[in-house]
Amino acid sequence: MKVMRDSPRSVPFFDYPGLFSERKDEYLEVISTVLSGGRFILQEELEQFEAHLAEYMGLRHAIGVGNGTDAIVIGLHAIGIGSGDEVILPSHTFVATAAAVKQVGATPILVDVGDDHMIDPLCVESAVTERTKAIVPVHLNGRTCDMEALTGIAEAHGLLIMEDAAQGLGSRFRGRMAGTFGAAGSLSFYPAKLLGCFGDGGAVVTNDDLLAERVRQLRDHGRSDDGGVAQWSYNSRLDNLQAAVLDLKLGFFPEAIEKRRNWAALYHSRLSRHEGLLLPPEPVDGDHFDVFQNYELESPQRDELRVHLQDHGIGTIIQWGGSAVHQFPHLGFGSLDLPITERIMENSLLLPMNDSVTEADVSYVCDTIDLFFGS
Ligand SMILES: *Cc1c(COP(=O)(O)O)cnc(C)c1O
Repeated sequence: MKVMRDSPRSVPFFDYPGLFSERKDEYLEVISTVLSGGRFILQEELEQFEAHLAEYMGLRHAIGVGNGTDAIVIGLHAIGIGSGDEVILPSHTFVATAAAVKQVGATPILVDVGDDHMIDPLCVESAVTERTKAIVPVHLNGRTCDMEALTGIAEAHGLLIMEDAAQGLGSRFRGRMAGTFGAAGSLSFYPAKLLGCFGDGGAVVTNDDLLAERVRQLRDHGRSDDGGVAQWSYNSRLDNLQAAVLDLKLGFFPEAIEKRRNWAALYHSRLSRHEGLLLPPEPVDGDHFDVFQNYELESPQRDELRVHLQDHGIGTIIQWGGSAVHQFPHLGFGSLDLPITERIMENSLLLPMNDSVTEADVSYVCDTIDLFFGS
């Protein structure tokens, strides 16, 4: 994004070099140790990270895979989703969620979200047919979906739940972590995600021992412990080096979340007086413990506001490039009409929210928004 030369400050939407520079020496030490030991694939650092991640989430198993998309594909495959099955998911998600359903040969059924930007359980209920096999709730922006309503629907119709928690690591619904409600959950460690590594990475999480065994096989060519090949499969393993970096970062993760929640509280207290903005709920300790992967607000003047912020050196992003999954004409969803999702795609904007943002940055963003509304 272009930064005007006369801006007093600049706040990038995401500071990629900052990801490394914040703890450069510690990262270099970890990287050097792993590389010197020649431990590249499926080594002890991966096992350690998997154990720590499972412990953090209060689950029995976390299995590192190549990226967050593979985590959904392998998770769906492992729970038995395949050709002829329908899978219900929100259209307000990254195309990867729907693509994963396609990749296992099933049919993605896109539904609308509610005003909270999460999949609407009523829309899920009305999309169920006799071919429906699973629901993929997406814990978007660092917030958990209404898992009580969704598990109720799944139980009533005999459906499986595979949670896309790529944006939800650490978020909780009634005290329970995103990714721990369904048969399995998926995580992404893409650099800009809550827990980001220095490349691609992901994980499948589950409490089910048999399912975990299947996922371990699926990520490694279908090979079983005895050296045999049990089935046709994939190669999708979390690199040992990335796992070592992630294990270090997981130690600071609760602090990182607190920081995001502080910035969200500050955004809320400074911006809630503007009637031209619809803000996400502030961080409170109710049913939802929101970890603010993103700060996604809505405004009917979104495009003008975005240009104004850009002119003042502030980077913003419109999620998914401004199109929900059903709005990409080449994906074949035809004339599907999802009014809330479409409203969000027209009005929503992500403000800077990441580990590198400072209190002064948040203040500057708020001052600049005040200037836009003339007060
Ligand atoms: C990032 C993301 C993914 C995919 O993760 P990758 O690691 O980039 O493959 C899937 N779903 C959602 C909601 C995401 O935000």
